[in-house]
Amino acid sequence: MLAFLIRGGWVVDGTSNPRYPADVAIEGDGIVDVGRLDGATARQEIDAHGKIVSPGFVDAHSHSDCSLFANPTAESTIRQGVTTEVVGNCGESFAPFTELARTHLTDRLALYGYDRASTPPPSNVALPYPSTPST
Ligand SMILES: [Zn+2]
Repeated sequence: MLAFLIRGGWVVDGTSNPRYPADVAIEGDGIVDVGRLDGATARQEIDAHGKIVSPGFVDAHSHSDCSLFANPTAESTIRQGVTTEVVGNCGESFAPFTELARTHLTDRLALYGYDRASTPPPSNVALPYPSTPST
């Protein structure tokens, strides 16, 4: 008996091939079979008829390195199917984390509408780097 079986979805597998109807069997951390699995049984089945079944998406341009401080669950990203993000874009990153980054982060979070009082900058982050920029 399988752990999970996703039945009847349209599989988009990321190979550039057209989508196709299939069941997806999952055991442990991986996919163990894809196809018509009519005789298979699982402890948990998910009816995916009319839905797309695909691996997670890569967001190649994200600024979650900022927003995760105020929104650590990132549910809006996960609900869109994003499982991998590339951060540190647009010439900025919050690593290494310095006092300068803390100030910038606070300003950025406020710009996006996060309340300074309810989402203080992470004061529990260790600062192994100089707190002022070198010249
Ligand atoms: Zn950007």
